This record gives sequence, structure tokens and C-alpha cells, in this order.
Amino acid sequence: MARFANIIVDISLEKLDKTFQYQVPPGLEHEIQVGMQVKVPFGRRTLTGFVLELTDEIACDPQKLKPIMEICKDSVQAESQLIELAEWMRKHYGGTLNQALKTVLPVKEKTKAVERKILHLAMEEGKAREMLGLFEAKRSTAKARLLRALLEEKQLEYTLVTQKLGVTAAVIRALEEKGILTIETRTSYRNPVSHLDSKGYHMVLNPEQQRVVDTILLQRDIPEASKVFLLKGVTGSGKTEVYMELISHVIAEGKQAIVLIPEIALTYQTVMRFYNRFGDQVSILNSRMTKAERYDQYLRAKNGEIAIMIGPRSALFTPFSNLGMIIIDEEHETSYKSETVPKYHARETAIFRAAQSGAITVLGSATPTMESYYLAKEGCYTLLELKERVKQNPLPRCEVIDLRQELRQGNRSILSERLQELMEDRLKRGQQTMLFLNRRGLTGVLSCRACGQALKCPHCDVTLSQHNNGKMICHYCGYEEPTPKVCPSCGSKYLGGFKAGTQKIEELVQRRFPTARILRMDYDTTRKKDGYEKILSAFANQEADILIGTQMIVKGHDFPNVTLVGVLAADMSLHVNDYHGAERTFSLLTQAAGRAGRGDLPGEVVIQSYDPEHYAIQTAKEQNYEAFYEREISYRRLMHYPPIWNMLVVLGTSENYQELSEAMEILSEQGQKAICTKNLQLQAFGPTDPSIGKMNDLYRKVLYIKGAGYQDLIAIKDYLEKVIRDDLKQKDVSIQFDFNPMNGV
Ligand code: ADP
Ligand code: ZN
Ligand code: ZN
Repeated sequence: MARFANIIVDISLEKLDKTFQYQVPPGLEHEIQVGMQVKVPFGRRTLTGFVLELTDEIACDPQKLKPIMEICKDSVQAESQLIELAEWMRKHYGGTLNQALKTVLPVKEKTKAVERKILHLAMEEGKAREMLGLFEAKRSTAKARLLRALLEEKQLEYTLVTQKLGVTAAVIRALEEKGILTIETRTSYRNPVSHLDSKGYHMVLNPEQQRVVDTILLQRDIPEASKVFLLKGVTGSGKTEVYMELISHVIAEGKQAIVLIPEIALTYQTVMRFYNRFGDQVSILNSRMTKAERYDQYLRAKNGEIAIMIGPRSALFTPFSNLGMIIIDEEHETSYKSETVPKYHARETAIFRAAQSGAITVLGSATPTMESYYLAKEGCYTLLELKERVKQNPLPRCEVIDLRQELRQGNRSILSERLQELMEDRLKRGQQTMLFLNRRGLTGVLSCRACGQALKCPHCDVTLSQHNNGKMICHYCGYEEPTPKVCPSCGSKYLGGFKAGTQKIEELVQRRFPTARILRMDYDTTRKKDGYEKILSAFANQEADILIGTQMIVKGHDFPNVTLVGVLAADMSLHVNDYHGAERTFSLLTQAAGRAGRGDLPGEVVIQSYDPEHYAIQTAKEQNYEAFYEREISYRRLMHYPPIWNMLVVLGTSENYQELSEAMEILSEQGQKAICTKNLQLQAFGPTDPSIGKMNDLYRKVLYIKGAGYQDLIAIKDYLEKVIRDDLKQKDVSIQFDFNPMNGV
């Protein structure tokens, strides 16, 4: 039982690092918990604060510590829950409490909401006229001017008064003190969706959709039933309509809903659908908003002005006071995993956050993650399916082309004969084609045909990408150098692009189809504000015949006139060096294929591959998730990979290679020892070099720890954190924990 509590008395973030310590009086010892709101003496005042931490470590003279006065009853406020959530995140993902708090609490900025002050006449009119006479007699011209204007208008903008009437703040204050006027402060929030038109329109669900909604609502009220639902349904099966129907139930009960959507899919079209149904109750968050704009939206949520927040991962921390539901759409997206400490996963965090307020969590995807589907099969989540596309249009026809065969037949182009033939056909018929290139990271690599070396970044140990401005660029750190004429390793002049990037493909396709109108969507063309939306709407308006792009083209918009999708090299994502290769490939191919034949015209998909027999490619061709899952889960079981086992990656970074090696050896030794003495069911490997051995001039080393149970992994993390505090404090290294990493290390 902790004897002391670290308390934050002001929730505003600038003071977050400043906590005050108080005694936990014996009467409260059993009751007090992290996140609770308490009353504490502060100087001569009594303030309410939040318990950030309970501890036995005292920070100053115990004589000086004052006791907590009381726990505020009914303190289940948004902040309490978020602080408790931060504590949970710290425990489950590592890092400091401060890092966790900064993740969950909205950042308050100096340039916060724009304030408007309004002056109101506060005096009965007859009396005010008497006062006006008095001012005129005393030649108090400024006072008279202001009062005359107020008598005419009854209320005035503060800025108008000071700027147009030339009245000073002192004069306004004087009239306020005399009770002639009052000053009202209005916060004018920027509403990112207010320019839209709401029509309050909604669809009647089909029987399959209705059954899903009914099941969820029914199960919600059964105490012992699972409160997490996995909705599996191909794109176009009507999941979004199901979400909206559920939301309407939730808000009718006076509760709020959070909808997580990957940023890339958070298009104008999507927002419009929610706005059309729910109007002003909807707000959005996205990464292009300034901190102040984001803060405004958090405030609106806190003040109960909105009931639905749509946004990427961080929308999870919207301070709603009575949350009823969290929806995670496209739950397989890797962007739901944070890449900064705490490296939390939005799914697990959402489930905890929802449980805090008795809310439900709904996960939706056409290709659920192995984790979610496994848990659904185990009965931890409730599995619900939408098996048909709403518009009943059939899934596209899919064929796999063997690129090795093409090469043998003398076709060295990136487009197989078959794909060229189909593209030609679509151009003739005035239908559209999408060409999908699997991965930016592996494209545009320059390698030497004589010695096989690829050109790498001197700082990051990753391959550089060739851009058509004649430069080689590192996508991790931005390093640039001119494209060399000869191989830096062996001097050979046979340097060649061994896999083309999107720009190169655009050139090649244009050469093959000189009259075709081509749009390209990738990192470079979407970097500018609205770049993404512009390209999508140009393509939707049929201003182009062919859209070429990276994975960002596989989501978001519906293009009814697209009847052909070509996947140029399906295998690239198979060879990323972590265990997600097959899952990532299956999911990407399925999503890409889902882009064809969304309208009335049937669609076709061509998957080009060097490894056409691979089960990820074969099952994607058949659009058979079950078959893929069965193959993949047996592989995971065999290899003890998640979701069968859990994995913890301990990543160390340092400028000093020697220190890093020593530190990681200490962690490894101590870890092994703890596994034995504490009898933890874990296996540890390392330290070894990760796939990227150096990034931004920092050396990197990793330890891998695997175990069947999550609790043992958390125990070893806690232990290693103590080792870091006690034994590594002299070393110039930084250590991060990553549970079940999704994006490689
Ligand atoms: P998903 O989110 O699974 O991709 P959507 O909810 O976007 O599916 O639905 C796909 C299309 O079908 C959309 O154009 C949507 O407006 C339409 N739709 C969905 N449900 C219905 C329904 N019950 N009746 C008519 N059209 C529907
Ligand atoms: Zn060479
Ligand atoms: Zn670099």
C-alpha cells in the first residue's frame, strides 16, 4: 500500500512535469487509485488535483508533506479516465508516465481557441440614460460614447469598441465596475466540418446489416458477454452503414462515440457520409490540423458540443465524459501501432478505454489481423460477418501472372503481355485502370549488375531511392547524393534500377500508351496540402485513364469506372524481414483487388509475381480469407510467433557503439537471469543487429523475447526497466520497448 501520492494540481500540459507530493492518510489507503480526482491543500487554498502516481518513495522531508483531504466523489471524468489509461499504457508498453500522459492528454497551446469578448448593457434602460446624461455633463466623452453605442445596440464586440470607437480598456473596466455593462467571453472554436451541408439522410439497412446491429446491441446489455466485436466484411459490404446505425443508438442514449479511420482513408467522401447523417455533432481530427486546431476539437468534445469524433489513432484520446462506443475501421492497418514511445496499439488501448466506461469496441475489416481473428475464434471477441456486397456486384475475376515465365519469353518490361493487352482494351472502351506498386521502400533501388551491391545511405544502412531529379534520397533521414555513374564498390559502369519506382513506371507506361492520360500518386505527389484529395478527385472525374500508385491508392475512394487493377510486383511485401510478410501481402492484394468492379461494370485483377505459388498470393487470388488464415496460423504456431505467442523487442540506440554493446549485453544477461529465477515462461535471444543497423547516425541493437503469456512479458519489461534505472544510468544509451511490433525494427 502506497504511502505517498504524486499529484498534478493543474491539468494544463505545460505544467505536466510539475507534480506535488502528498501523504495518503490511513483512511484513504485502500480506496485511492491512480487517476482519481482529490482535494488537496495548496498554500492557503484547497485545489482539486489528479493522482498521477502512488509510491513509497518520498521526494522531500516527510514533515513538510501535507495529507490529501478527500477523494472527490463521482470523479469519473474524462481526465481521470485518461490518466488511468496513461498508467495502463505505461505498464503495458513501457516508457515513462510522462510520455504516456503526453500521449493521452490533449496538448494545450498558448495560441488556443480564439476568444471573443462581447459587451452587454447590464443596466435598465431608463437608468442608463440618466448615467449617460451624467457622463455628458462631466465631459467624460469616452464613457459617454461607449454608453450611447450600447444603448443603441444592446451588445457590442469588444474589439469593435476598442478599435472603432476608440475607447480604452480602462474605460470599459470602469463601466463594468459601476455595473453598467458586463463582459461575456465566447470561445469561437474552429469547426473543421461546419462548411458542410447536413441532410440528416440515412439508409434502411438490409437484413444482414440489421442482424449485425441487433446482435451487438443485444450482447451489449448482457453483462458476461464479450464487449468487443469483430465485423468481417469485404469492402462494399456496408460496414460503414452499420457503424452509423450503432452510433445513432449510442448518441440517442446521451453517450459519445469515437471512430478511428486510417488517415489515408479519412477522405472528404467519408467525412461527408457521417456529416450527412449526424450534422454538427461530428468532428474530425487529422495530422494536417495545427495543435491549436486539434486542441479546439478536444475542448468541444469535453464541453459536450460534439458526440462523434472521427480521426486516426490519436482520436482515441478524445476526452468524452460518457463514451459509449469505439469503432476501429480497417483494423488491420499498421498505422494503428504507434512508432513512438509508448509504442501502443490502438486496438488494445481502445478495448481498455472502452471498458473504463462500459463501452463497446467494434473492429471492422475485410482482412482482419491474425491477432483479432484468432481472438475471435478463441471466443474473446464476437465474430460477425457481412458476406455479400450491398450492391450484389460480383467480386472481380483475378489472375496471377508468372513474371519468371515472362522473362523467359523475352518480355523485360514491367508490364506482362496479359496486363498490356487488358490495358489496351480498357483504353479503347474508355474504362479506367489502376496500377498498384507494392512498396515504396523497396523501389527505385540502384544496384550494380556486376557486383550486386545496392547503393546505401551512409547514415541509416538502408538502400537509397532514385528520384528523377538525378538524386539518390534516403527516406529515413533525407540524405541526398547525385546518382553515381559507376559503382562505388567495384567501379563497374553497369548500374541499373533493379526495381522501378512509381515515377519510372509512369514513364514506361506513357511510352507504351502514348495517348493515355496518366496520374501518379505517391509520397512525392501527395506531399503538398490537398495533393492526395486533388489526385483522387481528378481520377474520380475521369480526367485520367490510368492511376499509378503505392499502397495509398488501395483505400478510400470508390471509382465505379475502374474495371482493371494491375498489381505490378506482388512479392515485394513478402520479403520484408519480419513475420508479417505473408499477412501484409494477402491484405494488400485483397484490398487492391477490391478496387476493381465497384460500379455496374465487372472488374478484373492481374497480379504479377515472381513467386506465384505462394499461399498468400494464391489465397488472395481466390479472395479466400479462411484459407489464408489456416495456412498462416499454422506457420505462426510452428514458429511461436504472435498471436500464438507474444513478442517483446527491446531496442537500444546510441551514438556510441561500444556503450550500446555493453548495455545490451547487461540487459541480455540480467534478462536471462530473471527468466530463470522468476520462472518466467519466456525465451530470449540477442543482442543482435536489427534490419536497420544504424539510423540518423545512431547505432541500433535489439533483444527479442518471446513468451506464450503477456503477463510474463510485462514482468520482464518491468524488471529490465529497473535494470535500466539502476545499472545503465551512466551509459549513453536509449532503450525502447515494443510489444508485438508491426512495422519491423
Ligand atoms: P464498407 O464500409 O463495408 O466498404 P459501405 O457502408 O461503404 O461499405 O457500403 C458500400 C456502398 O453500399 C455504399 O455506397 C453505401 O452507400 C451502400 N449501402 C450500404 N448499405 C446500404 C443499404 N442498406 N442500402 C442501400 N445502399 C447501401
Ligand atoms: Zn559493383
Ligand atoms: Zn539516411
